[in-house]
Amino acid sequence: MEQAADTVRLFFALWPPGDLQAKLAVWARQAAGRGRAMRSENLHLTLAFLGVTEAALVPDLTSLAAGVRFAAFRLPLDRVGYWKHNRIIWCGAAEDPDALTALVESLRGRLCAAGMRYDPKPFVSHLTLVRDASGISAAPPWIPLLWEAGDFALVRSARVEGRLTYQPLQRFPAARG
Ligand code: ATP
Ligand code: MG
Repeated sequence: MEQAADTVRLFFALWPPGDLQAKLAVWARQAAGRGRAMRSENLHLTLAFLGVTEAALVPDLTSLAAGVRFAAFRLPLDRVGYWKHNRIIWCGAAEDPDALTALVESLRGRLCAAGMRYDPKPFVSHLTLVRDASGISAAPPWIPLLWEAGDFALVRSARVEGRLTYQPLQRFPAARG
């Protein structure tokens, strides 16, 4: 469906460093079978999905997110899985660090308080690696990978020349110290 010109499709996400994205993408291609491996530069962990939003609200969202205080944390990527209901292969942490849970709560709390709409489904932390998959045949050799998460981003999702593209609009760093 066409999207109105003055709107953007948005979400907040943790964005892995390029070397980590690259490692995950190699395995995603191996594991994909007939599914679609996500491109390396698109790999991320969604914190809150806003969907189609008025473009004029982006500055408000940016200042709201800049006010989210969180400490940098380590996210162990020590689990891969397959979800039948949406046919994705994903990876994530067996147990979310408290700092990640707190970040999501703080961000979503601020969105709520500001009357900004987002998908209210409970947060289930994961990175989608493959879509349209039919299962997993082998575990990856890299488990566990440690992700040093030091910032999150407001991201625009768009089709650019027919390709699904995620463009981080702004990054929000963890508090120092
Ligand atoms: P497409 O929808 O074009 O197949 P996509 O799902 O990757 O591609 P978006 O729908 O823009 O792209 O989603 C961006 C990110 O937000 C993805 O990580 C997606 O899994 C997540 N997401 C999408 N819809 C929701 C939703 N309703 N609730 C929570 N997260 C969502
Ligand atoms: Mg989608």
